[in-house]
Amino acid sequence: MISNIQNALLAWFAKHKRHLPWRREPRDPYHVWLAEIMLQQTQVATVIPYFERWLTHFPSLAHLAQASQDDVLKRWEGLGYYSRARNLHKAAQMVQNEQAGQIPNTVAGLLALPGIGRYTAGAIASLAFGQDAAILDGNVKRVVSRLYALPAASDDELWQHSESLLPAGRAGEFNEALMDLGATICTPRAPTCAGCPLKPHCIAYTKGAPEAYPAPKVKKAIPHKNLVTLLCRNQNAQFLMRQRPRQGLLGGLWEFPSEEIFDLPQPPRLPSDAPILALAAGLMGQLVSENASANLRYIGLVKHAFTHFRITRHVVFADQVQPTLHPENYRWVSADDITKLALTKSDLRILELLNSMSVVSSQIDRS
Ligand code: SF4
Repeated sequence: MISNIQNALLAWFAKHKRHLPWRREPRDPYHVWLAEIMLQQTQVATVIPYFERWLTHFPSLAHLAQASQDDVLKRWEGLGYYSRARNLHKAAQMVQNEQAGQIPNTVAGLLALPGIGRYTAGAIASLAFGQDAAILDGNVKRVVSRLYALPAASDDELWQHSESLLPAGRAGEFNEALMDLGATICTPRAPTCAGCPLKPHCIAYTKGAPEAYPAPKVKKAIPHKNLVTLLCRNQNAQFLMRQRPRQGLLGGLWEFPSEEIFDLPQPPRLPSDAPILALAAGLMGQLVSENASANLRYIGLVKHAFTHFRITRHVVFADQVQPTLHPENYRWVSADDITKLALTKSDLRILELLNSMSVVSSQIDRS
């Protein structure tokens, strides 16, 4: 009965497909690839403006391949998971330099590029090149788990189902239909089964509790880190900025210098900020000048959640700091020029905090 499922879903898709910028015809493989990378871990609504802006800046794969990594990270700023941008950039250079600018059109060829896994390879091969390749993202996992009432299927099992459902010659269309069904009808909570084309075939629906599939995963406690962050401003109104190592979390992005705080007994509440100021003085002693601690002020905190941990950045302002020598990944930058750097998301919020203070007034965001 797989053909009934295929026909029902394709007929629904013909009427209800989402019109997204990367689906414009004729399909451009660079656009499809870019969208698939941006959509990893990120909602469609968030991706659309990034996608459009990116293409005005890097209209072709050749433009991207020629760009500096700093420029690439700046265009990705705020989208998170920056290894996606670094890998996309590296892969664009490989395609440009080693494959005459031709994006591979097979799953195997795509898998050889950095940042492309089985799902992304299947998506690009099927959507951009019409190959009969399956996909398995979060939406597809959910739809398939419900269609076959699988509470805890392995990825291998789900891949097999996704492959067996694929209509030969129409894989791209079918994959997009699965994505759209998962995003708009078969949603994680409260799926609208009444309007679902797969309702007659869906075992979870027949059983009466579709939300139970797949079974929710047991959530682990998420660790939390406290950091002290130093806004050092010198007599020329420049701030000390640090570039993170190229590899690793937020690699290559710029930030206000920070250091993890261990053994913080409890989150300090303004204005009793002595422990934070003492740590900030220590950090400043390493970076600029040992005797400048008199000008330190605790100005607020910024919280941010990563996938596997959360951070609270306790922000301390130090004015009229005397510049001294510092390692080459540090730079003094004017307030206007800070925005030209690719900043981490929490540093963007620290910048907002700074701006909201009209340069350190008594009105401080304490949220
Ligand atoms: S009938 Fe309901 S649970 Fe089944 S695929 Fe459709 S929306 Fe999902």
